[in-house]
Amino acid sequence: MFESAVKDEAALRAALADADIAPMLMVLAQLSGDMDILDEVAPHIHGAWSFMEAVPEDLKQKVRDRLVATLQDYAATGRQPPIDLPADTLQRMMSAGVGQTVPADYIPLLVEETQLASEDARAVHWRRDGVSADGFNTVIIGAGFSGLCSAIRLKEMGIPFVILEKNQNVGGTWLENIYPGCAVDTPNHFYSYSFNQNDKWTRHFSRRDEILAYIGATADKFDLRQHIRFGVEVTRAAFNDRTSRWEVTFQSADNEAETIEANAVISAVGQLNRPSMPPIAGIDRFQGPLFHTARWDSSVDLKGKRVAIIGTGASAMQTGPSIAPDVAKLLIFQRTRHWVASNPNYHKEVSAGNRWAIANIPFFAKWMRFQLFWAGSDGFHASLKMDPSWNQPDISLNEANHKMREMMIDHIRNELGGDEELLAKVVPPYPPYGKRMLRDNHWYRMLKRPNVELVTDAIDHIAEDSILMKDGSAHKVDVIIMATGFQASKMLWPMEIVGRGGRTIRDAWGDDDPRAYLGITMPGFPNLFLTYGPNTNLAHGGSIIFHTECQVRYIAQALRDMIENDYATLEVTTSAHDDYNERLDEVCKNMVWAHPGVTSWYKNKHNRVTVTSPWTLLDYWKLTRTYSPADYHAERTEEAIAAE
Ligand code: NAP
Repeated sequence: MFESAVKDEAALRAALADADIAPMLMVLAQLSGDMDILDEVAPHIHGAWSFMEAVPEDLKQKVRDRLVATLQDYAATGRQPPIDLPADTLQRMMSAGVGQTVPADYIPLLVEETQLASEDARAVHWRRDGVSADGFNTVIIGAGFSGLCSAIRLKEMGIPFVILEKNQNVGGTWLENIYPGCAVDTPNHFYSYSFNQNDKWTRHFSRRDEILAYIGATADKFDLRQHIRFGVEVTRAAFNDRTSRWEVTFQSADNEAETIEANAVISAVGQLNRPSMPPIAGIDRFQGPLFHTARWDSSVDLKGKRVAIIGTGASAMQTGPSIAPDVAKLLIFQRTRHWVASNPNYHKEVSAGNRWAIANIPFFAKWMRFQLFWAGSDGFHASLKMDPSWNQPDISLNEANHKMREMMIDHIRNELGGDEELLAKVVPPYPPYGKRMLRDNHWYRMLKRPNVELVTDAIDHIAEDSILMKDGSAHKVDVIIMATGFQASKMLWPMEIVGRGGRTIRDAWGDDDPRAYLGITMPGFPNLFLTYGPNTNLAHGGSIIFHTECQVRYIAQALRDMIENDYATLEVTTSAHDDYNERLDEVCKNMVWAHPGVTSWYKNKHNRVTVTSPWTLLDYWKLTRTYSPADYHAERTEEAIAAE
């Protein structure tokens, strides 16, 4: 385990000279038990991001020297490293590593997320020997991050499954989005499966191709492709009351409809996959290329063209600065303003020393994951609650939220070089975090380019070769890029999902009012499980893959209950579902997303937050950690009843 770290001392020392100090310190503390050095360094670490430390060079060197000696000692003696450290030791280490107190109740979550004590802490195991899942067929819809995660768990448990995927490859959103600059804005050493950590990320926030390659490599590593039917789009899934099975209908590439039966269905279709094309008058009259960011038309050469981007959300944030240098003119049509935060690591490559350390030094990657989890997790959650006594309720929620606002304004002002006129056009009038937070991809620098213009008037209509504004002005353009987002609230659409008694999901949810217990199960739809369902999107921090892993563990436990007990159906009780949603709505009401000054796709047309989770990561982890049979109504199979 320690051989590759110590086989070339010069390489080890070179890597340590360049690698991040906090994970290094934590490896040292874990392996050596030396808490004194931890206490010595801790006061110089001021936050979880790698750039938030000011450890003096001589102290860093002390850590490096001790770590070299410790690793060499482990390699020489063959000692086993301690992995089940006492909770108070872990808390002390973690708190030192991020420069703030990590509360005790986070420790079990963090041990699990980092895989510190086990290589697959979220795996679900049978509760007794000899259980066979043969004949229990499961359909997973979608081969993106959530679908593959579901498949991996089911495969481990020996539960038969097939994945139906509308595309010709795995990857979901990362396959479909090919717009220039497409990248993740959650750090990759955290935005990746906990059970399949990648030691090869080249960037802290990787580009689309690298993420897609990781997803593909995961599918290969777990040998999942043989279970996937590509190029088939599920159009309908109907629960048969008589057989207690789902009949899943899909359209193959040659347009043939086929139906297969399943005991259970897991939807892993995501929330952000059906582009939203706004009903702007005249949109069909435009004579040039017009396409959505998620349906990027690579055949269109933007060089030297007058290009319009409609929308200023996360997709525009990445597309705009990526194409601005090439086009003759870039017109950005901003309807409402978005908050944008900067991160010094956003454009950085992972340094050679860090990459070496991640690949060769045991536990380094795990502690780095911990750090990143902490940096972007629940830290801001409390500050996203409206404080009824706050005296500037239109623009911020409380003191911490107001500070955040001022910090971001400082950043924007700085980037705009003091251009107060432009600043006034881009600073949102509502509190930070109201809409999805964006990461600055040199957006403001782009706005300062001579060939870029920010248009803030309202669009009236589109004509053959131009976009016409409500104030009567017109902008001639050659190409229009719709960065207008997705139909997030219309979950599961356009699939027709038919539950008990012929009641459809649209009967239950209407067009845009989805609800589910834990975002996973709905009464009237037995044996149907959702990943990334209602109110599971993350808007305060975290990684959606963490949420997926929580949901998939829960679903695997529910399937285990079905199989071990010969249940034909498992259906969440109406009371568990309704109580949960009442609690959820109550919490949402006071969170920033429900702020009256905010319009966003987090809410439906009745102003109910339907997409975003109001819980902390810790809350949701606790809620989903253990499936509770008491929340479900189960019916046994006829065979099981006859055998009694
Ligand atoms: P979005 O956040 O929904 O942004 C859509 C933009 O289009 C908004 O600025 C919206 O304005 C504007 N818009 C919509 N209809 C319009 C109309 N009729 N006229 C003028 N403007 C209009 O969509 P997105 O940027 O594609 O991002 C969606 C989500 O995808 C993100 O929030 C994120 O979760 C995910 N994503 C992630 C990344 C990443 O880095 N990881 C990158 C891209 C996307 P209003 O704000 O006024 O509605």
